[in-house]
Amino acid sequence: WFYSKIILGKNGVPVAENFRLEQSTIADTIQAGQVCVRTLYLSVDPYMRCRMNEETGSDYLVPWQLSEVADGGGVGVVEESKHDNLAKGDFVTSFNWPWQTAAILDGSLLQKLVPQLVNGHLSYFLGAAGITGLTALLGIKEKGHVAVGANQTMVVSGAAGACGSLAGQIGRLEGCCRVVGIAGTDEKCSILIQEMGFDAAINYKKGNVAEQLRELCPSGVDVYFDNVGGDISDTVISQMNQNSHIILCGQISQYNKDVPYPPPLPPDTEKIQKERNITRERFLVLNYMDKQEAGILQLCQWIQEGKLKVRETVIEGLANIGAAFQSMMSGGNIGKQIVLVSK
Ligand code: NAP
Repeated sequence: WFYSKIILGKNGVPVAENFRLEQSTIADTIQAGQVCVRTLYLSVDPYMRCRMNEETGSDYLVPWQLSEVADGGGVGVVEESKHDNLAKGDFVTSFNWPWQTAAILDGSLLQKLVPQLVNGHLSYFLGAAGITGLTALLGIKEKGHVAVGANQTMVVSGAAGACGSLAGQIGRLEGCCRVVGIAGTDEKCSILIQEMGFDAAINYKKGNVAEQLRELCPSGVDVYFDNVGGDISDTVISQMNQNSHIILCGQISQYNKDVPYPPPLPPDTEKIQKERNITRERFLVLNYMDKQEAGILQLCQWIQEGKLKVRETVIEGLANIGAAFQSMMSGGNIGKQIVLVSK
């Protein structure tokens, strides 16, 4: 019975045991319009925590159902096709890929992938060349007010994660003159500086974040790419400049709690935000899908030019996807957390 639940209720930390693996068979034949796919990579993402609640808290997220197959971003290869535009050997992706090693899917719901765009790193389509990269890019473009020559300092929280590690690099590419990351380990901090071109990084689990931030951002903070919310964000906001901007990407520190999204700021922080005219508008990448194609091409170009460094943490095996999710939610990943299902 221990393995039968995936619905956690509103408060609680997700664990690998919330998921169970079952053997099953798929139909021998496929219908017109369908394809049979083999799964290569699956993505685990923070928003999935909300799908573990009966009330996801978001109108665009439907809850996972107890004892039904979970789904999310996936990449696979077509093994057999009865869809006009897809052929055996094509690589395809979907946001609603079932967590299965193989599946029969409606071909019209799949997007065909061009592996050359990512130098053959197909898993990048779930990260830097997918929704994650788009989130970083469009978040900065739509809400960051970053301008070349404006001498802006950007701070990124959750900086060594999938979105954060890209956001800092893109902030720099778009014109920020100083980029400071906040992440959960010394190793993450040194990767941010040595590999990703951040000017400095703070391990929020060590020392006084406010003091370090004051030292590392002597001209204050102009743009804050917020992935985490909570105390870290209150500290950053207290050091933000007049007329500065928060990119409200996510609030992972609050996802295991029963709070609305976006969670309201504590009164002292809200006072600062209002007095300094700091913008904090909700940002949801799915609202900008008209910019998806151009955005992905830009990201792929930066990747090919070596301007955008990509990190992944890969866990192998469908059986380990629950563990991968748990690990990502608690900081086990550097860059995008990927599950390799088959080669
Ligand atoms: P990720 O950053 O790769 O992984 C999550 C990271 O969050 C962990 O590695 C951990 O790193 C950090 N973390 C976990 N609990 C924390 C806490 N209590 N305080 C501070 N940091 C904590 O995940 P991602 O996919 O890139 O997502 C990052 C954020 O972007 C999430 O908030 C997600 O919801 C959001 N997002 C938003 C959109 C959108 O459209 N707005 C789209 C995609 C993602 P540490 O070791 O540093 O703690």
